[in-house]
Amino acid sequence: MKKTNKKRRTFLKKSIQSVAAASTFSLVSCQMDATENIQKGPYINFNNTYRWKMTTTWSPNFPVLGEGCNELAQWIKKMSGGRLEINVYGGGELIPALEGFDAVSNGAVEMNHGSAYYWAGKLPAGQFLSTIPFGVNAQLMDTWILCNGGQKLWEELYAPFDLLPISAGNTGCQMGGWFNREINSINDLKGLKMRMPGLGGKVLAKAGGTPMLMAGGEIYTNLERGVIDATEWIGPYHDYLMGFHNVAKYYYYPGWHELGTVLEMLVNKSKFKALPTDLQEIIRTACLRLNRIVPIKFDTMNASYLPKIQAEPTVSMRPYPDAVMDNLREKTVETITELTEQDPQSKKIYSAFLEFQKKIIPWTQITEKPFYSKMI
Ligand code: CA
Repeated sequence: MKKTNKKRRTFLKKSIQSVAAASTFSLVSCQMDATENIQKGPYINFNNTYRWKMTTTWSPNFPVLGEGCNELAQWIKKMSGGRLEINVYGGGELIPALEGFDAVSNGAVEMNHGSAYYWAGKLPAGQFLSTIPFGVNAQLMDTWILCNGGQKLWEELYAPFDLLPISAGNTGCQMGGWFNREINSINDLKGLKMRMPGLGGKVLAKAGGTPMLMAGGEIYTNLERGVIDATEWIGPYHDYLMGFHNVAKYYYYPGWHELGTVLEMLVNKSKFKALPTDLQEIIRTACLRLNRIVPIKFDTMNASYLPKIQAEPTVSMRPYPDAVMDNLREKTVETITELTEQDPQSKKIYSAFLEFQKKIIPWTQITEKPFYSKMI
């Protein structure tokens, strides 16, 4: 009897040791901040205070996103006891909305909030760290970036520009867009001038459409005047505030082109390195908080505004037909194949994403996927 107990204790002890060893290993491989040895200075320096500028790609106080940046600045101020104060500027207030990448890179401002697909003209590979059509949702983008190597690739991509990228929010799954014609087949996208950024826009072009980029404030007027035939924007909350239901009839879903768009905080790396360690950790922690809060707010507000849009008598909300979705999916594969053949950085990052997808999808297939169709 005693011998059995001793054996069991030995077994338990060994098991605990091996679990502890495995945990240590998994923690090491799941670092949210891939940057190593970024700070050599003191942990805390009460003598120095810092005043930073943060630009954003959003209009000033833009619901959820601009508001979130304002909150982030407040959190950082409180956590640092006022040693790091950040002034937040909406797009166009200090610099044009889409010049944040250069402004942070050259040190004119210290931070910028946006999304990596805005810099696609400069760094096409960044789009894969923003959102991938027919890719994965917000939670899994986080899983890839924060724990499965995405962060390291992102930092490598931005290192030549003296930029440190940090995940700072996610829009969650968006809507497909507003149209004034029915989309019954892929041919209905031919000749369509549609506001659509990122890889989704390239897929639209492959389907015969014309993707167009414009600042958020110009979309409504352009749709009303027929400069564009269609637009995607975000989801029921922001779309309702924009009033798109007044100028377009058909509201299609889902947003195949933006399943979970990652929002990025760009930080000037040299200035980040010059901060005491506690302020660096405060920035990272505040960004992680924003990363969690933003998708929660999107879900909350979209769920509240969905019935408002559905109640609009002139709006017809409908899913993209299966055949259209299948066709867009095929065109997505063609688009990404072409891009990765031309651009080695895109190839490296997308290959890493595919590896992650191969690992994670079997898990979601037996858990959330079957569950969703049975939800009470
Ligand atoms: Ca969008």
